[in-house]
Amino acid sequence: MELNPNRFNQQAIIALEDIQLKTALDRGTGNADGRRRQAFAELDDAYALRMQARGAKLRALADLPELLEKMEQQVTANGGHVLWASDGEEAKQHIVDICRKHGLTRGVKSKSMATEEIGLLPTLEAAGISMVETDLGEYIVQVNDSHPSHIVMPVMHMTKEQVRDLFMEKLGMEHTNEASDMTAFARKILREEFLSADFGMSGGNFMIAETGTVVIVTNEGNGRLSTGMPPVHIAVVGIEKIVPTWEDFATLVQLLPRSGTGQRMTVYVNMFNGPARTDEPDGPQEFYLILLDNGRSSIYATEYAEALACIRCGACLNACPVYQNVGGHSYGSVYSGPIGAIVTPLLKGIENAVPLPFASSLCGACKAACPVEINIPDMLLKLRRDLEDEQEPLWQVGMKAWRFGNAHPLLYELGGKAASLGTRALTQLTGQDKLDNLPYPLSGWTDYRDFPSFAEKSFHDWWRQNRGAES
Ligand code: SF4
Repeated sequence: MELNPNRFNQQAIIALEDIQLKTALDRGTGNADGRRRQAFAELDDAYALRMQARGAKLRALADLPELLEKMEQQVTANGGHVLWASDGEEAKQHIVDICRKHGLTRGVKSKSMATEEIGLLPTLEAAGISMVETDLGEYIVQVNDSHPSHIVMPVMHMTKEQVRDLFMEKLGMEHTNEASDMTAFARKILREEFLSADFGMSGGNFMIAETGTVVIVTNEGNGRLSTGMPPVHIAVVGIEKIVPTWEDFATLVQLLPRSGTGQRMTVYVNMFNGPARTDEPDGPQEFYLILLDNGRSSIYATEYAEALACIRCGACLNACPVYQNVGGHSYGSVYSGPIGAIVTPLLKGIENAVPLPFASSLCGACKAACPVEINIPDMLLKLRRDLEDEQEPLWQVGMKAWRFGNAHPLLYELGGKAASLGTRALTQLTGQDKLDNLPYPLSGWTDYRDFPSFAEKSFHDWWRQNRGAES
């Protein structure tokens, strides 16, 4: 499945026709958004907590270089190894090199958007190294040879029946309609993988600089098995995931599960400081932390730096009317929804994701849902501004004329009258009761929208006739 953000419009049109997808998205986003609202409603002062979390992330970003150095020192002091990766290729090379060094050929991985972002699996496969996803959603995606459609719930786009059919076709599962049977079936396969793996991989939801700790929050226990059982653990973490202290982590970890899944806390919160100490019976003998940049430091230096405060909770996706209708795959990127519409152009280059900043009604539901109050609509508008030069000349001329007309009241009124007369004439000419389809070059606008008829009398005229004397 090819990922191409520039095909958003075409993918969205296909998605809108897909009834099964609509069913899955309605259920998935509706449940997640409803649970999030409930989880926040029980807080005494949710706004204060969100502001505290925002402050923690923005402070961490302000001190990012120093915190990353501190993290490296602490992990090294704990007996781990830290590797820096300026891009995805370097990160993948580090992983292959580690595998070669220790003779590793069989891996298990807990959910990680960073490894999705760099496209790790095909590289490992080409190097003769097998890797099995162990998060149930990610495992389904892997069996389906697809991509996650949501940053927290990778198979939000699938119904239970589709998962059943996939398992029956690809893995030989017997027919069942029970989700618990499907889970038990996958668990049995994955248990064998955990037992035979010689290395485990994870991402990281947070890094705590003061002690060199990587934290992952999960619900399935696969994170603990992937990172604790095999002799080598490799964590790939985006550099923006760092916070300075446990206090800041304590603030943020109250919000991530609430925002992502509507839980007060996830079932597991796993923390790694390095390899197992000599007095510890469990845990890996080797621990590698790969600090992934991959375009983040270029975002850091721009007016979009706030996007790096994202804790990848997925709440903005669930709240977004565009995502709710077209799903994650339409975005052609591992990062979908409102935050994906910002991060994807910034990471991949704006020319490679031209439609995404426009994939929003700017209703503000994303900002209202965001636990760290990222001003997503504002950044989408700024990206649209940046894209102005990329737009078609006709669009640019139209927007300039619109801006000019709106800035001059007389022109605005005359324009309104001309448009009203013009559309009435067109309606008569085409013999329609109502002008449903505008002619080219305006036809694109009415392909997906109703064209409201102009009122018989403009508001200006009405005001002059009825209230003019009062003013
Ligand atoms: S932008 Fe905010 S709501 Fe969206 S994923 Fe990031 S933290 Fe969550």
